[in-house]
Amino acid sequence: MSKNLRGLSERKGLEHGLYEEIATAGSKGQGLNDKNLEAAIERFLVGKSLVLGVSSFYDFLSAEHRGKKVFVCDGTACLTSGRQEVVKESLLERYREEEIGTVSCLGHCHSNTAYLGDHGVLSAEDHKPADKKIFTGTNAGNPALIAPTGKISEYYSVINEYEDRSGALREIELSGLRGRGGAGFPFHLKVKSSQEAKSDRKYVVCNADEGDPGAFSDKWLLEERPHSVLFGMLMTGLITGADTGVIYIRGEYPGAVGIVKEAILRLDSENIVGGLLRGSKFRFYVVEGSGAYICGEETSLLNSLEGLRPEVRTRPPFPAVYGLFGKPTVLSNVETFANLRYILKEGGAAYAALGTEKSPGTKLVCLDGVFRRPGLYEVKMGTPLKEVLNVMGGGTRYPVKAFQVGGPLGGIVPASKVDDLTLDFESFSREGFLLGHAGIVSVPEDFPVIKLLEHLFEFTKKESCGKCFPCRIGSIRGKELLTGASESGEKIDRQLFEDLLETMQLGSLCALGGGLPLPIRNALQYFSRELDGYFTSKTYGHE
Ligand code: SF4
Repeated sequence: MSKNLRGLSERKGLEHGLYEEIATAGSKGQGLNDKNLEAAIERFLVGKSLVLGVSSFYDFLSAEHRGKKVFVCDGTACLTSGRQEVVKESLLERYREEEIGTVSCLGHCHSNTAYLGDHGVLSAEDHKPADKKIFTGTNAGNPALIAPTGKISEYYSVINEYEDRSGALREIELSGLRGRGGAGFPFHLKVKSSQEAKSDRKYVVCNADEGDPGAFSDKWLLEERPHSVLFGMLMTGLITGADTGVIYIRGEYPGAVGIVKEAILRLDSENIVGGLLRGSKFRFYVVEGSGAYICGEETSLLNSLEGLRPEVRTRPPFPAVYGLFGKPTVLSNVETFANLRYILKEGGAAYAALGTEKSPGTKLVCLDGVFRRPGLYEVKMGTPLKEVLNVMGGGTRYPVKAFQVGGPLGGIVPASKVDDLTLDFESFSREGFLLGHAGIVSVPEDFPVIKLLEHLFEFTKKESCGKCFPCRIGSIRGKELLTGASESGEKIDRQLFEDLLETMQLGSLCALGGGLPLPIRNALQYFSRELDGYFTSKTYGHE
């Protein structure tokens, strides 16, 4: 079934595909009316259920968004900082309650004042565009990611040094680059699999659907260093034989969408890529998301691009051999692609030397608005976490009891464990946490941990694609248990709660349902004194 729909979708191509048709027809808070719905059905020869199933999946196209004029960020950092209420109060001076909705993280965790309006992301402080420059810093002498791009033609001319494309793949392998979206999968293996796959068509897809609250590094790269991302995609395409690069940017980042489109126009108008490729072609497409966190999961993203309901696909097959429209596709995250220019210019060994043996290179780390110097830092892998938080970030402005690192599915690191961690994949995993995307959200001393857990279950409930029961139902049951305990004084049966976590962890198809138990267990372990009263029996914690 999906294969047939995939084939139909491919025939229309990306530019006028089913997703674009539905997203355009239902955008601007109007929802998908009957006229638009019928037009899509006729043009694409698909059933009404498919179009309704797709359109109802996305926040921006859903019935709940209709009639809303502004949207307050409901990400973790805006919640724990207590700023959500402040932003809403300021909006109530201008809008009626029913005109104010919520939106998933806007990537302004460094200021906690942003909201989304008709004209982009605005600051509740002055109701002007919120996209101000943010503070950046690094402890890498020659940073791979935040260094200025310089003259564009020179920047791209590195391609000339790799006429033998296999040499480029060798340098990438030597660099040991691991995917920066969270999973840390060796990047060269994806490229190699796609290169070796036989197909009439191949793709490169950049996952710019950075939905983890607390992370804004992809947003920064897209807006401040778009050519580093485009270069990485182009080079990947040249190695694998792909002629098309698709950048899927979340709709909550309208500024990034415009800037990347401009960067592509510039490449075309100055014939920079065309000149370097000497006849062969590579085209970029920008696709704007419509509000769905799960589209940051690679197979959900592919289904979204194909105009299907973006539920997670079972794997194998993996996207490197069966990706967009069923064709070999290297799909990776913004920061991963952005590293390639440095690797190919300076050499894979130089890149690897910036980090540790198993976590080579640098990592972009985002610090939220509670830090004295909130912003974006390029950090050498292996750097002590306390150096990142207290020296680079200047420490927090008020007492903090924990940091959630790596988004809603990342670990909850108690302040007492900071000294034991270094910033790399292994250290976090050894200590029972997850580095993930490395966005860091502070949990103030007076913020109830039970409220944070409720928020995490609520987030999963809202963003679950619904494909598997443990996540779809488990997230609702977990939220109910926690709300009952925090608001009505009901005790949570500890064994039942543990069974729920185990079912979600073992039975979920992807990292959303399967990953949620990690931060929940961290909290149960390290904040047992605060949480014990909500449960029926004593904890297994180590406070
Ligand atoms: S774990 Fe959740 S998001 Fe992932 S496939 Fe299952 S229902 Fe979908």
